[in-house]
Amino acid sequence: MERAAARGISCGMVTNGSLVRGEKALRLKRTATYVRFSLDAATRATHLTLHQHDDFDQIVRNLRTLSEAQGPATIGTGYFINERNVAEVVRGARLVKDAGADYIQFKTYSGLPIDPGLHRQMLEAVDETLDLSDQTFDVHIADRIFENHSYQVRGYSRCHFQAMKTVINADGSVYLCAQKRTNPSGRVGNVLTSSLAEIWNSATRRNVVDGLNLLKCPYCVHDRQNKMIEYLAHFQTPHRGFY
Ligand code: SF4
Repeated sequence: MERAAARGISCGMVTNGSLVRGEKALRLKRTATYVRFSLDAATRATHLTLHQHDDFDQIVRNLRTLSEAQGPATIGTGYFINERNVAEVVRGARLVKDAGADYIQFKTYSGLPIDPGLHRQMLEAVDETLDLSDQTFDVHIADRIFENHSYQVRGYSRCHFQAMKTVINADGSVYLCAQKRTNPSGRVGNVLTSSLAEIWNSATRRNVVDGLNLLKCPYCVHDRQNKMIEYLAHFQTPHRGFY
């Protein structure tokens, strides 16, 4: 990341936070654009239940150290709400703010239907956390919590956003997007055998993009961006350049 940042490439890190400590944390704060811990509990017991690791206290200490360190990186946490941690949403947000982080982000698992009672409980909890939002702390709530949809009407002719969400897996495989990163139909090459530029300009990638059947794509977190890009690309008006 330091080498990439030195060449002007913005880098962010999403991590469970357990190893972000000591000198590594200080270097990360100076290098990254953002660091987001996946922390979706407010107690050691719930964290242990969800992650099977008894490292909650260490993660919170790391969050505090990173937030207090010198450097431009924005520090926050991502909280996936489910039936096991919904009761800790408000306490979790207080804990993250108290640790000195810049934000907390609340999300639900995309495309999975939520029981109406649980959904109501989620909305009430995130509503309460909004009181913590101020000039130093942002409470960000992903739109899909409100929508609670398990289906999507695409409304665009092709996927435009895949070009901005390319994924390289640990084994070097390159995938169109995060949601296809384990799906062979979204695999376009491997950086261990070809350069990224070769893969990007290859017939294989072109064929995968051109052959995409959007109806077979999973519930997509980039649905909105695709709709917006297509709308802007086809927007016809005499004063189009002013929009
Ligand atoms: S899941 Fe499909 S629509 Fe969504 S970003 Fe990937 S390729 Fe595009």
